[in-house]
Amino acid sequence: MMKYYILFGPPGAGKGTHAGAISEKYNLKHVSTGELLRAEIAAGSPLGLQAKALIDAGALVPDEIVEGMIESVFDTVKGVDGFLLDGFPRTIAQAEALDKILAARGEEVSAVVSIMISDDVIRERIAKRAAVEGRADDASEATISNRIATYHAQTEPLIEYYKNNGKYHQIFGDGATIEVNRAKVLDLMASLQ
Ligand code: ADP
Repeated sequence: MMKYYILFGPPGAGKGTHAGAISEKYNLKHVSTGELLRAEIAAGSPLGLQAKALIDAGALVPDEIVEGMIESVFDTVKGVDGFLLDGFPRTIAQAEALDKILAARGEEVSAVVSIMISDDVIRERIAKRAAVEGRADDASEATISNRIATYHAQTEPLIEYYKNNGKYHQIFGDGATIEVNRAKVLDLMASLQ
């Protein structure tokens, strides 16, 4: 069986920051739907154009778009022991679609690894990241507020979804250094093996 880990958490929780260490240690393909979408935007594709307006508004792109991206990654990536999904699923509909996609392959979600932070820390982290990475969706107060609202309305319900099937595991990221949080995430991953 392949492993399918979901790296979960609000915007700015540090999913992308810790994904490299996890995927290296467990030979997983790191798949960030945000990065895939930004690549489409950079390439100027029609999909990228559609996504840009939504991302810049702090909204989610349509479920079908990200579901298609994820499925094509599962179809094409070889030579790994599994996948580390970062930023997907982000809605209950996406979680249900993922369950279907995996069931059709005789597979299932292995575990959800969640990095929880408070709304105040979300704002702090994104403000810092704006200066470093120059992402348009990090630069505007209104966009950040919408992303936080979108997270609570559409993504947070996934916590219950994965608690109900016993797959949800969480660490708290507030007030600790990147190194300390990375150690917590890696300890949690180790406990799941
Ligand atoms: P962050 O972790 O800071 O939210 P991401 O790179 O994961 O950043 O996502 C950036 C944006 O890309 C999101 O705000 C959203 O508009 C879009 N996006 C990423 N993943 C998804 C997804 N699974 N479903 C819908 N939209 C997504």
